[in-house]
Amino acid sequence: MKTRDRLRIAMQKSGRLTEPALDLLTRCGLTFRQSRDKLFCFGEGEPVDLLLVRDDDIPGLIAQGVCDLGIVGRNVLNEFQLTGGVDAAPLHEWRPLGFGRCRLSIAVPHDMAYERASDLGGQRVATSYPGLLGDWLRTQGVDTQVVTLAGSVEIAPKLGTADAICDLVQSGGTLVANQLREVEVLLESEAVLAGPQTLPADERGDMIELLLKRLDGVIQVRESRLLLLQTSRSTLEAVTRLLPGGPQPTLLPVAGQPDQLMLQALCAGEVSWRQLEEIKKAGAREMFVLPVEKMLA
Ligand code: ATP
Ligand code: MG
Repeated sequence: MKTRDRLRIAMQKSGRLTEPALDLLTRCGLTFRQSRDKLFCFGEGEPVDLLLVRDDDIPGLIAQGVCDLGIVGRNVLNEFQLTGGVDAAPLHEWRPLGFGRCRLSIAVPHDMAYERASDLGGQRVATSYPGLLGDWLRTQGVDTQVVTLAGSVEIAPKLGTADAICDLVQSGGTLVANQLREVEVLLESEAVLAGPQTLPADERGDMIELLLKRLDGVIQVRESRLLLLQTSRSTLEAVTRLLPGGPQPTLLPVAGQPDQLMLQALCAGEVSWRQLEEIKKAGAREMFVLPVEKMLA
């Protein structure tokens, strides 16, 4: 394989991962010249180009050295590792990216009895992920027939081509619409930055390291929330105990109310309604959860 001096990242041409992947790369300071419906996008500032392809092709392009990195679902990456053939170079998940979240699950028709994996013995399970399903069935020691389908897996039980399915689930709406019940989760998936196990020992390796650093910063900010609230000094300890993880909160006095404090806390990750309700019960008032735009510690 000819060496390249520019980094090449494979990403999905058109689908669920396209917009969030481009958004993430843009936040990392990368800009691209050509329109995104072309196969190739030329990087303007940094020596980083994009190859826009079907998501299933991404792990193979990295394994062959055609691309240095790829943004792809963990489901597709792990399936490739299991079924990509003997010459497939092992790939590495460099970073989870926090979007494209879904799970690979087994679902059965509502009228099928299911309590444990052994209930699948002698049954047919339809899937587009024969590698991941086969691997799971082996660990469970169950003898089940895997029916590989390219798409529309969820209708296989109705068509009579399978007894159960193994497919990606996000909200579960598709399952409900097809009278299916989710019974096992095989894999929790999200988009990941995939690459070879060892980085190239040239400028591309340096560029990847720079990109990883920027990604970490962008992901950290994206997942941070600023929590603002007011509490009296007497409930401060109870409120502080309930705060989601993060650095020590900052306390500010409230003018004209000596027993009151303003509390400001940086939280790593979402703050749920339930957490807010608990904190309120402990004595907090005037609560705000704000996204963080940029952060320089
Ligand atoms: P392509 O034309 O690139 O092959 P595709 O139809 O295989 O596209 P999409 O449906 O766009 O792919 O899904 C891309 C990825 O998004 C999946 O591999 C998975 O990681 C993630 N994803 C998140 N939620 C879902 C979902 N509900 N169904 C399918 N994929 C999902
Ligand atoms: Mg695909």
